[in-house]
Amino acid sequence: MTPVAGSAPLFREHGTRACENGGATLRSPGLTVTDSVLHTFQVRTRSREELVDITSDVAALVSAHGGHGIATVFVPHTSAAVTINENADRDVQRDMLFWLKKLIPESGEFRHAEGNSDAHIKASLVGNSVTVPFVDGRMRLGTWQGIYFCEFDGPRARRAEVMLR
Ligand code: ZN
Repeated sequence: MTPVAGSAPLFREHGTRACENGGATLRSPGLTVTDSVLHTFQVRTRSREELVDITSDVAALVSAHGGHGIATVFVPHTSAAVTINENADRDVQRDMLFWLKKLIPESGEFRHAEGNSDAHIKASLVGNSVTVPFVDGRMRLGTWQGIYFCEFDGPRARRAEVMLR
């Protein structure tokens, strides 16, 4: 993805790409800014709590961008999050969701009337962004590391944003 030339509009749309990933549908219509690239993924989750592997989508953006820098993956929601963890054994994802649920049950002593306080708390515990350095268009993830969108109050249409600099 080449940066937009000086006289071009500030934002430029990329094509839409769709793929199946962990049961959720991802789409990546991106926006290019002059000296950096911001992409927005649509993440369609299918259950109340779910981890969606978005590694290959972020890797494709980094590869197209090339060069060296830092990829920031940001989730602009208050009941969803993003994390980096093991991608080899799916039981790790199951265990993370299982123990978060044990730690913060869905029903309990909550005041927030929307009924999703557990999701808000889980989102803050896990966090809203991760950063990954990249060199020559390749992320420096460890062998067993994957990037996971974390749904805590689905199913919903969600977004994840990726900034490359
Ligand atoms: Zn709420």
